[in-house]
Amino acid sequence: MHEIGEPTHKRRILLADADAFYVAVARLADPEGAGKAKILVVGGSSNRGVVTSASYEARAYGVRSAMPTATARRLCPEAVFVPVPRQLCSEKSRMILETLRDLSPVVEPASIDEFYLDLTGTERLFQGEDLTATARRIRKTLKNQTGLSVSIGGGSSRLIAKLAAKQAKPRPGTDGKGVLVVAAGEELPFMERLKLADLPMIGPQFQERLASHGLKTVQDTLAVEQSRLQQLFGKKTAAWLHDRVRGLDSASVTASSPARSLSHEETFSVDLQSEQDLQREVLDLSYRVAADLRTKGLKARTVTVKIRYADFSTRQKSQTLKVPISADRPVLATALDLLRKHRKQRRSPIRLLGVALSQLSRGPSGPDQLSIFHDEVDAIMESDQDRTLSEVIDKLTGRFGKKGIRRASQLDSKRY
Ligand SMILES: [Mg+2]
Repeated sequence: MHEIGEPTHKRRILLADADAFYVAVARLADPEGAGKAKILVVGGSSNRGVVTSASYEARAYGVRSAMPTATARRLCPEAVFVPVPRQLCSEKSRMILETLRDLSPVVEPASIDEFYLDLTGTERLFQGEDLTATARRIRKTLKNQTGLSVSIGGGSSRLIAKLAAKQAKPRPGTDGKGVLVVAAGEELPFMERLKLADLPMIGPQFQERLASHGLKTVQDTLAVEQSRLQQLFGKKTAAWLHDRVRGLDSASVTASSPARSLSHEETFSVDLQSEQDLQREVLDLSYRVAADLRTKGLKARTVTVKIRYADFSTRQKSQTLKVPISADRPVLATALDLLRKHRKQRRSPIRLLGVALSQLSRGPSGPDQLSIFHDEVDAIMESDQDRTLSEVIDKLTGRFGKKGIRRASQLDSKRY
């Protein structure tokens, strides 16, 4: 196990996290309306939606992300409600990423508005500039390039960077200055000020369990012998806790250039001809590729169905949607539509089918996604139900394996 205070080989990790991202972008999108509203709620333009984000002033009324819009309206009737400016959010996210890629050798997007940077080994490149100065320079550049305020936390691990970024936030009533870097060797004093509830992955249930043994703060935990923690929580959890309360986190920052497309193909042992068989295959391929997409935290705008006929001639048809999707149903609906178009042109035996997703983006995640589009007349839109169902299925397939759960329409398939 590594020791705190080791002076050598310290990593230099930053987390850049946009401040109230959706609120800030909504204000840029509509400077006269949302821009002037102090008490602002973003998301759920109708009462069926849920809140994506609320301004600090609205949060003072108890308005929270993922809360039904109707509840938010009740809590805070004077708030201005605006839909999520989806396209500008994606654009701003991409702008932040591109700006950061010019400033750091390794950039890993963690969500639409959070980006880890690994600057280890850049000391010479930056002529000995300390990490705080680097973080301030990056924050300033981001503000100039994107118009957004981004807080930056830093330290020797992802965990320290994450916790520091949270404290750096210039929230009203706090002294956050937008940048907080925990110097190498200062991890322990930094951690000692925190409650266990401040640490990521220590949720309410675990907090209760810890509290029942008198553990509420990092200091409480540091005072307990490791052998005692093992008795209480088991070897694995005790080891995890040991590292967490010391700010240790060996996970690395990895530059991910997202794949350009994802696809699944199936070559059949016997050429397929019946509509029912083809539809069943398209369904299976669509669900598999959509699950891959969600695993990678991506969304796609273009769906492609590829067909190879018995004579080996190959055809592709694509459709690009107005908004990015990731749930099973809209992927399947689009793919089936493309299959119908293929079949209209040519109805001969098929030896290979493929479903591909492209125009990938790291879309906003969260429960409310496209509820604002409910009113638009477009069959291929993703609803909250679509997403919830897909998430449930992902969880079940994760637990029981891919064959553990199949939708009813697949049950009669020969292949299972
Ligand atoms: Mg943020």
